[in-house]
Amino acid sequence: MDLGLRGRTAIICAASQGLGKATAEEFAREGVQVVICSRDRKRILASARRIRASVRGKSVSVVPVVADLTKARDIKKLVTTAVRKFGRIDILVTNAGGPPVGTFPELKDSAWEAGITLNLMSTIRCIREVLPYMQDWKWGRIINITSLTVKQPVDDLIISSTVRPGILGLTKVLANQYAKDGITFNNVAPGYIMTARQEELSKARAKKRGMSVERFVLEQSRDVPVRRYGSPSELASVIVFLASEKASYVNGTTISVDGGLVKGLF
Ligand code: NAD
Repeated sequence: MDLGLRGRTAIICAASQGLGKATAEEFAREGVQVVICSRDRKRILASARRIRASVRGKSVSVVPVVADLTKARDIKKLVTTAVRKFGRIDILVTNAGGPPVGTFPELKDSAWEAGITLNLMSTIRCIREVLPYMQDWKWGRIINITSLTVKQPVDDLIISSTVRPGILGLTKVLANQYAKDGITFNNVAPGYIMTARQEELSKARAKKRGMSVERFVLEQSRDVPVRRYGSPSELASVIVFLASEKASYVNGTTISVDGGLVKGLF
């Protein structure tokens, strides 16, 4: 299937590792010019090198930008760098690190504010910055990486369970308003995908339950109908499809990529 993405330009946020990096890699494989960011210069440069190496032979650019997504001015810099380099932005994938973990009594205002800034405000600000360019070109794809918590709240991910559903509301409103400009908005909701963040969560939860990480992962995998954790590339493929011409009639929706973990109907 030709996804029709060759030559397009994408910004992928938080891409020094994990889901963001896998997504950038998948786009580059499709011939998309990618602009990637994270906070640490060394790590984002290393990620860009690895992505280039994985698509050796293809004529795609991978542009690393040092940007802290909790800072509005860094988000502006990320977007202006992409525009200066390529003259347009076709695709935006919003993503960031995970919000603080803990139960309700454990979490202070500072943790809630950190989660809101990192996961909700960064999404709002990135979309605000890219929209005018997409409107000019009458084409755009915005895909937000959220979490299974938007469909099935998780006790020790109460900040994620509270803040991320806001992204669904935002997406639905923008999907109503900007489809006339050729711009679609969708979310992906990953379940258990093996990354550094998932490993950290598994370690902390295993410790709380007094069991080994290996045993915890095995037990948690049994909750997933496909009986395993997903790989970052399995999420990335869905994002790339949503960004493609083939997904032109998919707008305002949230797609779980969780092996069937969420048991609800929607
Ligand atoms: P990860 O921790 O492996 O990677 C996070 C990336 O975000 C890194 O590149 C890091 O440098 C970057 N980052 C963190 N804070 C940043 C900031 N302020 N500015 C710029 N970059 C920043 O995490 P991941 O597993 O790839 O998850 C990505 C997102 O998806 C997270 O929000 C996570 O909570 C969510 N999620 C992940 C899973 C999963 O199973 N992996 C499941 C549900 C939701």
